[in-house]
Amino acid sequence: MEAAGDQHIFRSEYPAVPVPDNVTLPEFVLQDAELYAEKVAFVDAFTGKSYTYADVVRDTRRFANALRSLGLRKKHVVVVMLPNVAEYGIVALGIMAAGGVFSGINPASHPSEIKKQVEAADAKLIVTDDVNYEKVRNVIVLSDASAAHLEGPINFNDLLTAADRATTSLLPDLHVSQDDLCALPFSSGTTGTSKGVMLSHANVVANLCSTLFSVGPELIGQVTTLGLIPFFHIYGITGICCATLRNKGKVVVMGRYDLRTFLNALIAHEVTFAPVVPPIILALVKNPIVEEFDLKRLKLAAVMTAAAPLAPELLTAFESKFPGVQVQEAYGLTEHSCITLSHGNPAKGQRIAKKNSVGFILPNLEVKFIDPETGVSLPKNTHGEICVRSKCVMMGYFNNEDETTRTIDKEGWLHTGDIGYIDDDGDIFIVDRIKELIKYKGFQVAPAELEAILLTHPSVDDAAVVPLPDEEAGEVPAAWVVKVKGGKESEEDMVKFVASNVAHYKKVRVVQFVESIPKSPSGKIMRRLIKDQMLQRIRSS
Ligand code: AMP
Repeated sequence: MEAAGDQHIFRSEYPAVPVPDNVTLPEFVLQDAELYAEKVAFVDAFTGKSYTYADVVRDTRRFANALRSLGLRKKHVVVVMLPNVAEYGIVALGIMAAGGVFSGINPASHPSEIKKQVEAADAKLIVTDDVNYEKVRNVIVLSDASAAHLEGPINFNDLLTAADRATTSLLPDLHVSQDDLCALPFSSGTTGTSKGVMLSHANVVANLCSTLFSVGPELIGQVTTLGLIPFFHIYGITGICCATLRNKGKVVVMGRYDLRTFLNALIAHEVTFAPVVPPIILALVKNPIVEEFDLKRLKLAAVMTAAAPLAPELLTAFESKFPGVQVQEAYGLTEHSCITLSHGNPAKGQRIAKKNSVGFILPNLEVKFIDPETGVSLPKNTHGEICVRSKCVMMGYFNNEDETTRTIDKEGWLHTGDIGYIDDDGDIFIVDRIKELIKYKGFQVAPAELEAILLTHPSVDDAAVVPLPDEEAGEVPAAWVVKVKGGKESEEDMVKFVASNVAHYKKVRVVQFVESIPKSPSGKIMRRLIKDQMLQRIRSS
């Protein structure tokens, strides 16, 4: 860790790691796969269906070729709407190997949300499964002359089956470079609604190099990772799928969550590493179902928790219930291609960051903490907005120059909208979030999106959505609503109205009617004030 020049810039205490500059993401993660040809890369926790490294290499190429023969060309975006399935990695890497751009979406999305993402991404194709086929059938997929066949959704199984079984080398006309986009996940960033985050092959390769710096050769081929975090989210696709393939480990894929199947999968598949979100830690600590299991049979060496804050008392309770399991907190964001800060690896003799910190700065990254008002960088032990600079910083928001320049400044710093500080030892603590984002069980919910939906209701004159703390979910969306004169609806009606227009995790859980929405002189909703007053009302009712 060091401070540089007149700015307080902090760098990793670990030496820089090399980042290859001439490989695409599929090439990088499947490098040396032939040495592990017979080893299982993905196994479905429910069906037992599995794919070896040889299968993954072969089917990734076949899938890529099938997409190319359908008309997919470089830079074409493919929206993938699938739960976590054993083939997910093949589908995503196949799109990238074909020169396309993978854009995952939550299968729980409302049809209007799917349409929004497909249009915002200018997608040429949707890949889905039998269950979701009907839901996406009516979503219009834009097409152009060069991709005339790419209309309507495609079932990934049909595409894999239809792929020319003989064609396992990539079509010759294909030159995908590191600077091409490989993924377009959606994130609301610091303000407004969801935006396409442009990630290049170079971005994600750089992120994997930094994140995996602590994985020594002794761990290659040894780790069994739980694939429960949704693969449409950056934490799932980069942090689980790609990282595990790179290390030649095995992913135990879980397409849905309930605590019993989760624990069964951990035991049956001898999972050694489980990336989760704080609500799962809560369930492991509090849910009596856990007592039904013989925890001595767990082979779990570590859980990683990221995507949302972990309450300190929860961490302590987990550690006393699962004494042999290391808890690695990590912090990251879609705009930085995934993990940004994390804890060390005791097996490599590294220092473990302090409990309740989100870890230290990964190699190759620069971090600073700025005064959000003045932009001035701040010294150690001082709260400020976390800014990151590295090769992992996104190329920008798709078709959104304004939001891009608001988020990445001229010097290349990504402004995260999170408040934190670095201590004397280089450990970083997250203390607050100034961006508008709500995190429900780690899922992004954009207040602006729910406000826009509320405003379409004929009885709503104005609305503001804020996060309220919740023990299980971390945060839940809650709304203040100003009704038009004569509006008859109840608060419950408003809750139902929003629920009928969004994926289940975005529902507003609380609505309070008010006379007006407090706004700053510049017209910005005063969210902090609203949140505090809502909580006061709830506590006094
Ligand atoms: P996403 O792009 O969906 O991964 O969301 C990124 C945001 O999630 C960050 O900017 C933080 O606000 C929040 N976040 C991620 N990891 C953590 C963590 N370990 N502790 C607190 N907040 C986190």
